[in-house]
Amino acid sequence: MSTSSGLAPSTIRIGHRYRANRLDGPYDAIVIGSGIGGMTAAACLAELGQKVVVLEQHYTAGGFTHSYSRNGYEWDVGVHYIGDVGAKHTLARRLFDFVSGGKLEWAPMDDHFDRIFIGKESFDLVATPKKYRAELLKHFPEEEKAIDEYFKRIAKAADAMRLITMEKLLPAPAATLVRLLSKIKAPKWLNQTTREVLESLTKNQKLIAVLTGQWGDNGLPPAQSSFIIHSLIARHYLYGGYYPIGGASRMAETIIPQIQKNGGELFTYASVEQILIEGGKAVGVKMADGTEVRAPVVISNAGVFNTFGKLLPEKVAKQSGYLKKLDTVKRSMASLGMYIGIQDTAENLGLPKTNYWLYTSEDYEGSLDRFFADPENEPVPLVYISFPSAKDPEFLNKYPGRATIEIVAPGPHDWFAQWADKPWGKRGEEYDALKEKWSQRLLERLYEHFPQLRGKIDYYELSTPLSTDFFCRYAEGEIYGLDHDPSRFEQKWLKPKTSIPGLYLTGQDVVTCGVAGAMIGGLATAVVISGKDGAKLAKRFFAS
Ligand SMILES: Cc1cc2nc3c(=O)[nH]c(=O)nc-3n(C[C@H](O)[C@H](O)[C@H](O)COP(=O)(O)OP(=O)(O)OC[C@H]3O[C@@H](n4cnc5c(N)ncnc54)[C@H](O)[C@@H]3O)c2cc1C
Repeated sequence: MSTSSGLAPSTIRIGHRYRANRLDGPYDAIVIGSGIGGMTAAACLAELGQKVVVLEQHYTAGGFTHSYSRNGYEWDVGVHYIGDVGAKHTLARRLFDFVSGGKLEWAPMDDHFDRIFIGKESFDLVATPKKYRAELLKHFPEEEKAIDEYFKRIAKAADAMRLITMEKLLPAPAATLVRLLSKIKAPKWLNQTTREVLESLTKNQKLIAVLTGQWGDNGLPPAQSSFIIHSLIARHYLYGGYYPIGGASRMAETIIPQIQKNGGELFTYASVEQILIEGGKAVGVKMADGTEVRAPVVISNAGVFNTFGKLLPEKVAKQSGYLKKLDTVKRSMASLGMYIGIQDTAENLGLPKTNYWLYTSEDYEGSLDRFFADPENEPVPLVYISFPSAKDPEFLNKYPGRATIEIVAPGPHDWFAQWADKPWGKRGEEYDALKEKWSQRLLERLYEHFPQLRGKIDYYELSTPLSTDFFCRYAEGEIYGLDHDPSRFEQKWLKPKTSIPGLYLTGQDVVTCGVAGAMIGGLATAVVISGKDGAKLAKRFFAS
């Protein structure tokens, strides 16, 4: 059933296949990578009249927002739920509407969109702050003061993030002023670890575990993550979770026509080998086939490790200081991903529009440490289960009588490093056996909660950090770019404009991870590049 060798190719191919003779320059800007951040930057620039080419190495567009199909099923990779898109006035929704020409539609998940299991107990995260508060008080009636203070703090942290983002948009002197202002205004706890802040509010470890039960959304347990990322994610989902109708690939499908507006294009199979630097400026890129594509603006959506560690000529990376700066940030967690298909509908199978977060203990850090020290014998401390076919009202039109399930669990790159130089789909029996072992362990956790699925699974496959590298070029399989620890939020260089004229960054390394976070990175990049037009764009999205 698990077919890690001889895998059939996916039939989903969004974007145009690159050939050197299909390039139609001159372009105003080149974007390396078609993640949601790269596509957002490109669509915003196109909206401002620019001709932009997006170059994506994968066979389909979208980066972590791509979908793939196999054996009559379709799965998304990095889009299980998006927050803040239910109401038309939110920043995330306005931005999605802008870049997709209003064509991307959303389906709400169940009110209790996230269910946190701690051992045998379960706790729901419920849509709307009022209902969420009531749900928390039901479980923790004696913690009212701490819960109310918690809501105040995540709101304050999200507000503080506005200034942190604004600083990234401004040129040096103004940015320094905003930084000062932001430091003066920021509460002292803002960039402490999530655990430090929560332990200052309550001693109730179970409550802390429930409040931080979404830690997998940024990849760092509460003792390591900044309270800023915790707050942004918690706020993002306060009004519930939503799923793109038609699946994650609808994002690229609806954004590409906006990019094409002024003659722009998004090419797949378009691997960029190097950023071309002449006279100290970025002037274009060299493709893997040797073709040079030139433009006055080069935007990298490939993440800072790729941009400065691989794409920039080494001498330039060293001289500019960026190679050293990479030592100040860490790669985020890597994971195992399981993709499951069943020949029955979500409704018949009783699959919910709720994400399940299965934790073995409220001691998130301890259980994770014990697991990494002894993965054979320790239980997997976090197993995340999501039911995309239940969330997508259009799924059955494309795949009648079928259902899909996705599972994500921590899985370090080290476990698979010995096969890193082997080709995808042909890494050999030992690798396949290791994957099979993990698949069975994860399936057993699924059956604990959904015993009706035993014997029903028609197809499954497991991705490892090597798959993440192969498809999205994250060398250690990191799924959220950089770690969101307090030190990350102190890095002034994580912003759209680099010190190399003509070279810009975009995507999740600029502001934060998450689809909405990477999009805001995309918007920020377009704003910084576009002068007065950019200022209007900033006003339109960031002022309200
Ligand atoms: C398993 C998983 C689950 C997730 N779940 C959620 C969720 O439910 N909700 C949510 O909001 N977020 C989720 N995320 C996070 C979210 O998907 C990412 O933060 C976001 O999509 C990152 O977007 P990005 O623009 O930074 O670029 P990426 O999506 O990282 O794309 C970068 C692109 O650059 C391309 N590239 C790299 N190098 C080159 C090169 N040399 N030449 C050409 N192209 C290149 C890559 O192929 C890739 O397509 C999840 C992520 C993962 C992995």
